[in-house]
Amino acid sequence: MHNDFLSRLKATQEKNVEPVDVEVNVEASEIRITWSDGHQGIYPFIHLRKSCPCAECREIRHQNQAKKGGGLRILSGPVPTAQNLALVDLFPVGRYALGMHWNDGHQTGIYPFDFLRSLCTCPSCQGTKREGKS
Ligand SMILES: [Zn+2]
Ligand SMILES: [Zn+2]
Repeated sequence: MHNDFLSRLKATQEKNVEPVDVEVNVEASEIRITWSDGHQGIYPFIHLRKSCPCAECREIRHQNQAKKGGGLRILSGPVPTAQNLALVDLFPVGRYALGMHWNDGHQTGIYPFDFLRSLCTCPSCQGTKREGKS
């Protein structure tokens, strides 16, 4: 069983996995993605929104990190929270990514499949990440 797990993990890293089923659960504010290797991924909206890989969001995160501890908030605009965030649209981008359109108007986030896969919050992926560090 352990070997099987390791070989599956290896397969994920070497092969390009892609979503075979995507289910948006509005009530739970999360997306569930079934991957081509059979993995069921769980992706809360807020987690996806905060991990947005577009240049704009990366810059905002960078600035937030730089002024951590400082009291002044220079950036304006609504801060997404788990309560008011909603996914307006989910659309395929080429054959490698999903684009997400959020209700805060943001729609430049393109999530490549391998990146999306790495964002998975299911217990097994969270456990893998922790174990992988040691
Ligand atoms: Zn973004
Ligand atoms: Zn997972």
